[in-house]
Amino acid sequence: MSAVISFPATTDEIISYNPATGEEIGRVPNASVDEVREAVEKARQSFQTWRETSFREREKFIMKAREVILAEMDEIARLVSDESGKPVVEALSMEIAPVLDLMQYFARNAQKILKPEKIDIGQLKFLGRSSKIIYQPLGVIAIISPWNYPFSIPLGEVVMALMAGNTVVLKPSELTPLVGVKIGEIFAKANLPANVLQVLIGDGKTGAALVDSAPNKIMFTGSVATGKKIAAEAAKNLTPVVLELGGKDPMIVFADADLEAASSAAIWGAFCNSGQSCSSVERLYIEESIKEKFTNLIVEKTKKLTQSFGSEAATDVGSMISENQLKIVENHVADFQQAGAQILTGGKRNKDFKGTFFEPTVISEATNEMRGMREETFGPTLPIAVFKTEQQAIELANDTDFGLTASVWTKDLRKGKRVAEKILAGTITVNEVLYTHGIAQTPWGGFKQSGYGRTHGKWGLMELVAPQHIHINRVLLTPNAWWLPYSPLAVETFRGFARYFASGSLRQTLKLAPQLLKRIKELRGK
Ligand code: NAD
Repeated sequence: MSAVISFPATTDEIISYNPATGEEIGRVPNASVDEVREAVEKARQSFQTWRETSFREREKFIMKAREVILAEMDEIARLVSDESGKPVVEALSMEIAPVLDLMQYFARNAQKILKPEKIDIGQLKFLGRSSKIIYQPLGVIAIISPWNYPFSIPLGEVVMALMAGNTVVLKPSELTPLVGVKIGEIFAKANLPANVLQVLIGDGKTGAALVDSAPNKIMFTGSVATGKKIAAEAAKNLTPVVLELGGKDPMIVFADADLEAASSAAIWGAFCNSGQSCSSVERLYIEESIKEKFTNLIVEKTKKLTQSFGSEAATDVGSMISENQLKIVENHVADFQQAGAQILTGGKRNKDFKGTFFEPTVISEATNEMRGMREETFGPTLPIAVFKTEQQAIELANDTDFGLTASVWTKDLRKGKRVAEKILAGTITVNEVLYTHGIAQTPWGGFKQSGYGRTHGKWGLMELVAPQHIHINRVLLTPNAWWLPYSPLAVETFRGFARYFASGSLRQTLKLAPQLLKRIKELRGK
């Protein structure tokens, strides 16, 4: 009997399968192009009232939604596990717990972060002018999300968008539609007003229709290929986009690191969620002198991992999401072998199961030329390469098109920080790995092909508002020297402006006073 499950193509329904068993777990209608347009229109209307709500009112809805999640925590964790294949423990530790923290953080702090700001406008303030920035919500935010963290990624962005005063249309991944439906239900139970959040289930076509319906901003998380398509389509309406894309994240281990801790971190970073995290450890670089010792530690610990159904509490590594994803991993592993790398453990699909399980795989003798060190694998593989010097470690880590996260391990924190600052990626952790998406206060986002824009922290909230500048002239006593009509005196005055006022020095600017008075007199006389 073949271990491969075939998933029938859907037409007007999205069918949800448990990837670990191949069993259908539900189906949801696929939103049509018209339904997408209608939803965006309804969201535009509901924005008119939602934008007027106070931060306190928004906070109440979010905190109520938190209570709903807390009350249904085990049911949600099981649904996330069933639909994605990840262990229930990871649904709790990597999705539910961090997003609950994010919810309370933005519910309680959005007002403070978005507080109107007075700006120092330099010498113009001596002329009675002042500037204030207020943060206006954008309107309808389209959130298009992936399957790998089907609960925490979209939910976190929904919360931030709502707290900023926007309405939201969310299109979750077609591979995890029921988790998407659940997010909608949570807010319905929290009595969020109608059409403030709408969840549209559908595939890439539904996503494309959402992009085409000209929302006010698109928050996209997914692959580089889809991100590029979305950016190109969104440009037709000048819709701004935040792109949270793939990664090929390096972990550098120096000889002076705590090797016990670093090896445990490496296998968690590479194998949690079956390696299907954008910030998974996808490349491990170890200092030559610890090659044997560290590789042995990694292999020993990997061999002890239990692979099974996500619903079992003792499962360390669950199934992958889909047959397609598993094939990419098989191809990368085959490519490693052909290119001369060694498979030390794993290396193949786990045939003990009917579903899409791939064994946790450790690979040595990898080099940056190999395909599996260049393209995102997104599976439970840990390829190991060796470096000789600090400079070489940095060069190898940066030798990639991606730049999402990186991790540096050493007991010498000065060296750790020095190396961290030389790596081109959005987040660098020293003696830590992968988990910072779970820190709501810090920015999340990539360099290079890993995307642009940020989610999380004040930087993420700022993506969801437009800074509006309110400039006031309190003393309208005189005409401005730069007003019409112009004259030779105006030319002379603005030579002075360029020389003195633009110097930023009040002392220099005072030299301009006589000329300025003459010009004002000239304007008054006209
Ligand atoms: P994907 O690009 O295939 O799909 C993502 C979403 O885009 C889905 O909802 C899909 O239906 C939708 N979509 C597909 N085609 C579309 C189109 N033409 N227009 C609009 N929407 C469209 O990605 P995936 O396989 O779901 O997710 C895995 C990828 O996501 C990996 O590359 C991973 O690294 C990345 N990811 C990045 C982050 C991050 O924060 N940077 C987080 C999680 C996942």
